[in-house]
Amino acid sequence: MSTIFSKILSGEIPSDTVYEDEQCIAFRDINPVAPTHVLVIPRKEIPRLDQMKIEDEALVGHLMRVATLVAKQEGLEDFRLLVNNGAGAGQTVFHLHLHVIGGRPVAWPPG
Ligand code: 5GP
Repeated sequence: MSTIFSKILSGEIPSDTVYEDEQCIAFRDINPVAPTHVLVIPRKEIPRLDQMKIEDEALVGHLMRVATLVAKQEGLEDFRLLVNNGAGAGQTVFHLHLHVIGGRPVAWPPG
């Protein structure tokens, strides 16, 4: 099932894109929770992290590496990388995405 992120991928909905390649794009969250809040998403539609297949392992590893590139590009030495898996964990858009959050101290444990 397509989500709003499919429309961002197709360009139907604009986004503030900070990185893109053949496998993924990264863009600023519309409702940032920190000075830097970027979402890294695969072009492939994977609804939730727990629905990734064994053949997606390299892709998900790539997303994590891109998250570190984005953090560096944003000038972040420290950052939080977060995936909400399922509505009960706070997932609202069912297209896999990594949150890159930084630019302020973040608490642990999260809420
Ligand atoms: P989730 O809650 O699923 O882990 O994260 C979804 C994120 O997508 C939220 O932080 C929300 O602010 C962001 N978001 C939802 N719709 C849009 C949109 O149209 N554009 C952008 N840039 N971010 C969005």
